[in-house]
Amino acid sequence: MAKYDFDIGVLGGGAAGLTVASGASQFGAKTLLVEKEKLLGGDCLHYGCVPSKTLIKTARVYHMIKNSAQYGLPDVVAKPVDFKDVALRIKSVIDKIQKHDSEERFCGLGVKVEFGDAEFRDEHSIRIGGKTYSANKWLIATGSSPMIPSIEGLESTPYITNKEIFSLDRLPKSMVVIGAGPIAIEMAQSFNRLGTEVAVIQRSGQILSKEDGDMADEVKRVMESEGVTFHLNTAILSVRDLGDEKKVVIKRHDGYTLGLKAEKILVALGRQTNVEGLGLDGISLKYDKKGISVNKKMQTNHDHIYAAGDVTGAYQFTHAAGYEGGVVLSNAVLHLPKKANYTYLPWCTYADPELASIGMNEKRAKDAGIEHSIWKEEFRSNDRSLAEGEERGRIKMILDHKGNPLGIQILGPRAGDLLGEWVAVLNGGVKLSSLASSVHPYPTLSEINKRVVGNYFSGKIFSEKVKKTLKFFFHFKGRACG
Ligand SMILES: Cc1cc2nc3c(=O)[nH]c(=O)nc-3n(C[C@H](O)[C@H](O)[C@H](O)COP(=O)(O)OP(=O)(O)OC[C@H]3O[C@@H](n4cnc5c(N)ncnc54)[C@H](O)[C@@H]3O)c2cc1C
Repeated sequence: MAKYDFDIGVLGGGAAGLTVASGASQFGAKTLLVEKEKLLGGDCLHYGCVPSKTLIKTARVYHMIKNSAQYGLPDVVAKPVDFKDVALRIKSVIDKIQKHDSEERFCGLGVKVEFGDAEFRDEHSIRIGGKTYSANKWLIATGSSPMIPSIEGLESTPYITNKEIFSLDRLPKSMVVIGAGPIAIEMAQSFNRLGTEVAVIQRSGQILSKEDGDMADEVKRVMESEGVTFHLNTAILSVRDLGDEKKVVIKRHDGYTLGLKAEKILVALGRQTNVEGLGLDGISLKYDKKGISVNKKMQTNHDHIYAAGDVTGAYQFTHAAGYEGGVVLSNAVLHLPKKANYTYLPWCTYADPELASIGMNEKRAKDAGIEHSIWKEEFRSNDRSLAEGEERGRIKMILDHKGNPLGIQILGPRAGDLLGEWVAVLNGGVKLSSLASSVHPYPTLSEINKRVVGNYFSGKIFSEKVKKTLKFFFHFKGRACG
């Protein structure tokens, strides 16, 4: 091992790379961390989760102010939004979190941090800024970037992506959003709430296409009621720059052609993995259009080179990147064999209402041909939801033929947080009967988790058979009314 400069080298200072770099160094491995941008933190901190959730909160507060009468308050005429102030708030939140991800902090942990573009020179060494560093093991965690579709005219028309949207100098009057995945939907709702006229274009017939149709359609209905326009089952024919405005020509599935004009075009059509310029072909490392191929231990076709996070093209979430980083640490640093298991990987789209998912949804259970039953509980039956004026949505529990949980979907207020209880239940193998008999504080949204399980058990508990047995033993007289 002495022949290498480092025990482990990490390419990419985002969620996956930082998990491995900090862990490896704290376990005593001599660690190199290389980041292409000027700051550590990755997409999540600078252009992803953190700015988007900050924007969502700002937009929600503005939306509530404009709808104050719904809460028994006087009507408020809200001043128009100055996006410069919104962008400042976003930047201030990023700056606070940046401190956890600073070069100084990592140096304090013992990690050598280098900034610049790294390229593999051979299977054990990279070139960066005229220097060569070698390491016994490597992790590629270079993340992903917005996928830019090939649409006639797009190359010569200015557009924005998640990289620009959080630092605009003013609120656009209008915006066409290309795509209807989580990023597109979160941004469409937020900008619409702030005062931008928003139209969403989607090729398929459903927004948030990985989710169950009934849940995703309800998010769409809420957004429509707030003023967002949707063009589903629609192809984009061309894009043109008209100066102050841009024109997007679309063709609906009925053949009707339409020109949408907007001040900004947001491209949010998915992600492409950051593999270019890494010199992967030179070391014969396997990757394809989806990303770098890895086995369950997160190893590439070269056993000592690992890949984790968005760059593998699998589950592109920060918590997935962190989890995979943990798998790499276990295998590459601790030499404790560990395989990634995504059975209970949760996720959430932070629209209002939020849509959170763990395990199988109805769509996936049907596609897999698994016999299942569905149990639901509506938020409008939850006292706290009513008190909060958050009555939309439901929880959906999917059970297999033996009554074991396959998955949970929650559409409603704080769905992402409510899913936390299910993360523990499913990963810990907690029995549904334990959840049903547990006491939840009243009045909380979390009671919905217990209630949905109660719905499953109540048919068994209050059955005719049980009633007959009780009558036999205790001579109960039955109904007292009607
Ligand atoms: C708008 C938006 C909202 C999102 N919201 C959420 C959310 O709410 N929840 C969630 O879980 N996920 C969310 N995501 C996804 C999340 O941001 C990613 O899944 C996560 O950042 C992936 O982490 P990573 O470590 O794989 O990559 P990244 O965090 O992107 O880190 C990769 C790093 O590698 C660097 N790099 C690239 N090339 C090189 C090179 N050649 N040499 C050295 N360094 C290089 C990059 O500069 C970057 O810093 C969101 C994404 C977007 C775009």
